[in-house]
Amino acid sequence: MTRSEELFEKAKHLIPGGVNSPVRAFGSVGECPRFITKAQGTQIWDVDGNQYTDYVGSWGPMILGHNHPAVLEAAMEAAKNGLSFGAATEAEVTMAQLVCDLVPSIQMVRMVNSGTEAVMSAIRAARGFTGRDKIIKFAGCYHGHCDAMLVKAGSGVMTNGVPDSAGVPGGCAADTLTAVYNDLGSVEQLLLDNPGQVAAVIIEPVAANMGVVTPKEGFLQGLRQLCDRHGTLLIFDEVITGFRLGLQGAQGVFGVTPDLTTFGKIVGAGMPVGAYGGRREIMETISPVGRVYQAGTLSGNPVAMAAGICQLNILQNHPEVYTHINALGDRLRKGLQEIVGRRGTAAQVTGTGSLACLFFTDKAVVDYETAKTSDTGRFGDYFRHMLNHGFYFAPSQFEAIFLSNAHTDADIDRVLETADAFFAK
Ligand SMILES: *Cc1c(COP(=O)(O)O)cnc(C)c1O
Repeated sequence: MTRSEELFEKAKHLIPGGVNSPVRAFGSVGECPRFITKAQGTQIWDVDGNQYTDYVGSWGPMILGHNHPAVLEAAMEAAKNGLSFGAATEAEVTMAQLVCDLVPSIQMVRMVNSGTEAVMSAIRAARGFTGRDKIIKFAGCYHGHCDAMLVKAGSGVMTNGVPDSAGVPGGCAADTLTAVYNDLGSVEQLLLDNPGQVAAVIIEPVAANMGVVTPKEGFLQGLRQLCDRHGTLLIFDEVITGFRLGLQGAQGVFGVTPDLTTFGKIVGAGMPVGAYGGRREIMETISPVGRVYQAGTLSGNPVAMAAGICQLNILQNHPEVYTHINALGDRLRKGLQEIVGRRGTAAQVTGTGSLACLFFTDKAVVDYETAKTSDTGRFGDYFRHMLNHGFYFAPSQFEAIFLSNAHTDADIDRVLETADAFFAK
């Protein structure tokens, strides 16, 4: 037994499934989760002393690589002054200013403790502002685990074969309408069928929780127009894409302005942080200004703010980070495409910027239904092959490969060589 296997056996008695988040369980790829001890740059080590090149990056936050010295220093300096005050701090003002400066659609922002909380709060704000109850989401998009969003929710939920979670009251799910990603007609139909009742349309502008699925030309623009026509707010869930596809996130790349945006992951640099923000008149419905209640004992935590501010400052002052990670993404996608073509494998390479995905299907992947055609058994074989050769990928078909500024062309070439050896078999 490896030390990871021992720990997993013990953990299963103490923690449901042995893990504190289902996506860590490695169940769908038939492996024991690796228990991690440390990480540095692109490298991650487990309790058995195995070393891997990491392509998860804590599911996105580690855009600068693990343990970036300046980010670490900022967090440690802040910690010396106290871990939490439950009171207002200057760092929160600095963070709010930074987010508002970087993302033009955001005039006011609230910090919370996770992406889930950000989405839950943004939805409440949208409902409070519009006085409407219904929300449209897209099949395969994941927006965290709050009740209303656990309908056709992608990745973790999908991988575990539970389409809708138990414990979610029918009443909660009833106000959640599900549209088809990349299908404007499906959204328009829902808006027409529920006139004056839809508070918001929420979307991952690049879907990265059903594997990576990119929006078709004009899709996000079309959503904006539909929302405007129906008095419905448009919420971009940029928990993954925010500060990753560029400083302005997906909204900057695609030139579409949402009413509200949610952040997580990168904004906290690896600390438990989320944020939601948008138009001033909507954000002013939030307590204590307005009647939409939302609170948090640890929200805007000083150590978390210090880490997040430092990471955002580095990104702001070094636009070449985006040039680098996007070029790595292009190199990886092009390389995989070439291999798949040459080997005659039924697979689709998807993604944009520093997000990539390889689907084991002969169908073009444009939405949840086509994503689900992927052969997850074959993905499992591929995953284990890569793991055995020292590559730590997300243990599910329905997740992204995350690239960081610490990765190099040589890293990508090693991935391609090892992948090619798999397809040669
Ligand atoms: C990760 C994620 C969330 C949830 O964030 P947590 O911090 O895990 O609660 C929400 N939306 C998207 C798009 C995500 O990828």
